[in-house]
Parts: sequence; structure tokens; C-alpha cells
Amino acid sequence: MKGISLFLVPKMLPGENDAFDVPNAVSVGSIEHKMGLHGCPTCVMNFDGATGWLIGAPHSGLACMFTMMNDARFQVGLQGTGIAEASYQGALTYAKERLQSRAPQGVQQPDEKADAIIHLPDVRRMLLTQKALTEGCRALGLLYAKQVDLVRFGSPEEQANAEAIVAYLTPITKSFFTDVGQEVSQLGVQIFGGHGYIQEWGMEQLIRDSRITQLYEGTNGIQALDLISRKLVRDGGKMLQATAELFAGLITNIANQQDRDKAQEVYDLWLAGSQSLMAGDAFDTASRAYDYMQFCAYSLLAICWLSLKDTASGNDNQQLANSKAKVCEFYLKRLYPRALMHKAALTDNGEDLAAFTLDDF
Ligand SMILES: Cc1cc2nc3c(=O)[nH]c(=O)nc-3n(C[C@H](O)[C@H](O)[C@H](O)COP(=O)(O)OP(=O)(O)OC[C@H]3O[C@@H](n4cnc5c(N)ncnc54)[C@H](O)[C@@H]3O)c2cc1C
Repeated sequence: MKGISLFLVPKMLPGENDAFDVPNAVSVGSIEHKMGLHGCPTCVMNFDGATGWLIGAPHSGLACMFTMMNDARFQVGLQGTGIAEASYQGALTYAKERLQSRAPQGVQQPDEKADAIIHLPDVRRMLLTQKALTEGCRALGLLYAKQVDLVRFGSPEEQANAEAIVAYLTPITKSFFTDVGQEVSQLGVQIFGGHGYIQEWGMEQLIRDSRITQLYEGTNGIQALDLISRKLVRDGGKMLQATAELFAGLITNIANQQDRDKAQEVYDLWLAGSQSLMAGDAFDTASRAYDYMQFCAYSLLAICWLSLKDTASGNDNQQLANSKAKVCEFYLKRLYPRALMHKAALTDNGEDLAAFTLDDF
């Protein structure tokens, strides 16, 4: 790598709304040899003799910056979801066409020399993992987007409530959605087998494109830390409570008793699990950050899936309703257990991490 790609935000200088000079400025050069993003106009910018303008009121730059950053973080999360969708669509098409071996449940395409790989259980597992994660993230993303609208257009009370929810969910939508972008695009290559490694299919490009999303706009590790330290512990659970009420509302609307009970069970575990993390020093909290973010995301996606299934059940399109119900079932059986794994890893403190001396590594 020849250099690090950076967008330098000029330091705010005193001087009200006046334009100000930024010393040591301009030279723009594109970065080469970076992983992926070959068509991206990422560049190094050195400002020389340039003019900058103060945005917003003096001394409120940090607040202005976070308005922009929250939006940018969600957009990056959507980038992860979009890449995941592209990978699923490519993999699904390929899996229906690629003939390879016979399905263990019996010959599926007797007129062909082999069955399409979509009939193989492991390929189905991969496709359904792609679909369940991608659509689950999209559902959570839409829920989030509605809160963003309420922040702008709601009543004062709705605005305050939605602000708390957006604050809590932002690090989750950024980090989890982009982790999903990476996992799903990895699965896309896997479904293509050796062909996935070949550039012309476009599948390996999705891995490279989604990889950056886990890094920029604050690494996913930093997002997880933001969630547990600022949005949970330091906030005293107020944002958590506002978010919990939103999800409680979703659960109340689920018509099927069994599904409502399941959603309630997931919700109770998530809320109690979150509340139990309020104590602990800074090291303990930081050591739990990533597992907490994942625990939250897999739990909230489970509630989204049960709600999606419920909503789809009333749709005229029976095929759609059946498909959503089956993907929900898949999610609960095969992906929701990841939430329980992350919950188990939320140990009482970070002793195991602290125990390592530098020589132990
Ligand atoms: C292609 C590309 C485009 C970019 N575009 C822009 C842009 O347009 N504008 C812009 O401003 N920036 C941009 N960036 C910079 C990007 O936002 C940073 O690279 C990113 O935020 C990570 O910071 P860092 O590289 O300094 O990593 P570091 O902060 O050094 O992080 C290294 C590792 O340590 C972990 N870590 C660091 N601190 C903590 C902590 N306190 N707790 C837990 N873990 C921690 C991180 O999670 C990471 O795993 C771009 C980067 C790339 C690669």
C-alpha cells in the first residue's frame, strides 16, 4: 500500500461563521495497491492555502459531526446489506444452473447427468443463511429508517424517543450489517466453488468491496464499544429502554400465540442480558463489547423475523407467506443460537483477556 486513504476534516478554527484559511494544503493523489475499491475515488487530500467554512454554531462541531457520522454509519451498514443481496442473487442463480453430483434425497433431475447443486443440503444451508441474514438486516434497517424519519418529522415527544432508539441502533446497523455483508459474500464465493475465485463472475469482488465496510466510519470493534459503553452503560439504560419499547410493540402485534411467545422469550433474554451488563469497570465493559453487539443483533433479528412472518401470513401471495415462514424457522433454528453463544461469552469480566502478558501472545 503506497499510503493510507484519508479524508482530512479541517480543524475548526475560532472565528464564528467566518471563512478561515487552512494551512498546508492541496495535493490530491489516488491510492493504488489497496484491497478492493479499485473504482473508488478515494484519495489523499492535503489542503494548502484552501478556505474552509464553519458549519453550525461555534463550538458545536462535535455534535454536527455526529449528525453526519450517524447517517454515514447507517449508509455503510446499507452498503453491507446491498452487497449481501447481490451475493445472494448471484449464488441463487448459479446454484440452480450448476449440475454437480446427485442429491442425497434421491435423483432430482433424471434427464440430466447430475442434479443442480441447489438440491444439496449444504448448498441450501448456505443460501438460506445468506437470505435469512440479508432480509433480517433489511427489516431491522427499515425499522431504523422509520425512527430517523420520526427524529425529523415526529412530535417533540416522538423525536426524543426516536433519537434514543437511533442512537442505540446505529452501532448495531453499522457493524452487524457489514459483518453480514462479509459473511454472506464469503458464502457466495463458496456456493460458486472454484468458479467463485474467478474474477469474471463478480463474486470475489463482493468480498473485497464489503471488507472495507467493516473498517471505515469507525471499525466494527469501535462501534461495538460505542454500543456497550456510551449507549448502554454510560447512558444508564435509557436508550435501551426506548429501543425495548419499540420491539415490545412489534411483539404485541404478532397474532400467532406460539410466535408471540417465542419473540417474547428472545426479548426477555436480550433485555435482561443487557441490563445485567451495567456494572463493571471500563476494561470489563470493553472486553464484552463485540459479543454484546452480536448478541443484540441476533436477538433483534429474531424478533424482526417473527414479525416479518406474521405480517407476511396475511399477504395474498401465499408463496411469499410460506417462504417467509420457512426462512423464519431456519433463522430461529440455525442462526439465533449464535445469540446464545455470544451471550455465553459475555463473561462476568475480562479476566481471561487481562491475564495475557505480552510474552504470552
Ligand atoms: C479505503 C479507505 C477509505 C477511507 N475513507 C475515509 C474517509 O473518507 N474519511 C475518513 O475520515 N476516513 C476514511 N478512512 C479511514 C478509516 O475510517 C479508518 O481507517 C478506520 O476508522 C480505522 O482507523 P485506523 O485505520 O486508525 O485503525 P486503528 O484505530 O489503528 O484500529 C486498529 C484496530 O484496533 C482496534 N481498536 C482501535 N482502538 C480501539 C478501541 N479503543 N477499542 C477497541 N478496539 C480498538 C480497531 O477496531 C482495529 O481492529 C478510510 C479508510 C480506508 C481503508
